[in-house]
Amino acid sequence: MLTPEQMKEILNENVINLRFHARGGQGGVTASNLCVEAFYGYGVCQPLFGAERMGSPTESYVRLSANEDLVRTNEQVYAPHAVSVLDPSLLGEVDVIAGIAPGGWLIINTTMDQITIQEVIGRKDINIATIDALNIAMEILGRNITNTIILGALLRVMPIFSTDALADAIMRRFKGEVASKNIAAIKRAYEETCIYETPDAPTIDFTTDTKVPWQQVYPGLPGFKELDDAGVWYCDEDVIEIGSKHVNTGSWGEWDMIWDEEKCTDCAQCWYICPDFTIIREKGEDELWHMKGIDQFHCKSCQNCLEICPVQAITKRLKQGPAACATPE
Ligand code: SF4
Ligand code: SF4
Repeated sequence: MLTPEQMKEILNENVINLRFHARGGQGGVTASNLCVEAFYGYGVCQPLFGAERMGSPTESYVRLSANEDLVRTNEQVYAPHAVSVLDPSLLGEVDVIAGIAPGGWLIINTTMDQITIQEVIGRKDINIATIDALNIAMEILGRNITNTIILGALLRVMPIFSTDALADAIMRRFKGEVASKNIAAIKRAYEETCIYETPDAPTIDFTTDTKVPWQQVYPGLPGFKELDDAGVWYCDEDVIEIGSKHVNTGSWGEWDMIWDEEKCTDCAQCWYICPDFTIIREKGEDELWHMKGIDQFHCKSCQNCLEICPVQAITKRLKQGPAACATPE
């Protein structure tokens, strides 16, 4: 790992490229803004929202350098030196490792161990750092907002600026208790980050900024012809093959909604209020429609059903519970 002094020398002559993967509402864009605000030199950041809704995948990009002539472009970061992933479920949904320079860093909010992550991502030329940011966020902030916490982990492996500089930036942006809690969360993340420097990873080369065609950032997504149809919800598959039915909006939320059949009185209020038609009902032998469950593939845990249910037949459970963060031998 580079020391702060070595990083400073690199930043005098080169640009550090960062990419953040988050879900709408988790503060990925704020994380990239804070990087620029905390950095002593020059920096730019850009967000990429797409069709953002709460929970949908987002990206943001940061370029930092002490040399102002090097920070001129506003395009996406295609070959990041470090990628921070604020939500572990994105690993299965977005190609988060796309373009990471060999020897670069993947920093993930997860309780998975790094060897397992290496198997999941299929690359052995990048280093991995993990942090149980959800646990820290719930304990200190009381909400699943992991953006400042992931910055603590990022600074641990890539000291582009100090945690004190980040704390100053946070105090300028937030007030009172919100600021102090976020600073406490950063410090804890810095201490608790699990670091795995992959033995086969080469030394990172900061002098190259290879542009990768944007398609490689989301390999496998349908092209424009298919996307024309993608906005059709639960379409008739005899007419149009691709529709939102195939979009796993269930991965957007942080809660599993649990239905208790014993308590349910079949009032159907949850069915009326669900914005995504994810309350499953079936016609019974009595020719009437009955509640049968919740379609977890599409439920994005907005909690409307939980709030409206008059008999508390719907409850919620966090999708990822706190657990120890493991370091491989
Ligand atoms: S939380 Fe309830 S209302 Fe919201 S999408 Fe899921 S099933 Fe529908
Ligand atoms: S609102 Fe509650 S009681 Fe009514 S159908 Fe839904 S789960 Fe059952």
